[in-house]
Amino acid sequence: MRMCLLCRTRRAKPELFRLTKDVDGSFIYDPTQKAEGRGAYLCREKACIEKAVKKKRISEALAEKLEEEIETLGEKT
Ligand SMILES: [Zn+2]
Repeated sequence: MRMCLLCRTRRAKPELFRLTKDVDGSFIYDPTQKAEGRGAYLCREKACIEKAVKKKRISEALAEKLEEEIETLGEKT
């Protein structure tokens, strides 16, 4: 179980996006869930992503990427 960096809900790993810190300190998306470095997790939910942007926990560029990812997953199912 991992904790969402925003709402602090504990969820199983597949229900969360894994993020890692880039060299400049900003979060980047890690689709493999295996990249080196300090990881953080965020719910696979638009609401949580939007709040994370508002609270300046993630960048808007990252939020866009994650939202795209949610839409892609939605199309598959
Ligand atoms: Zn969350």
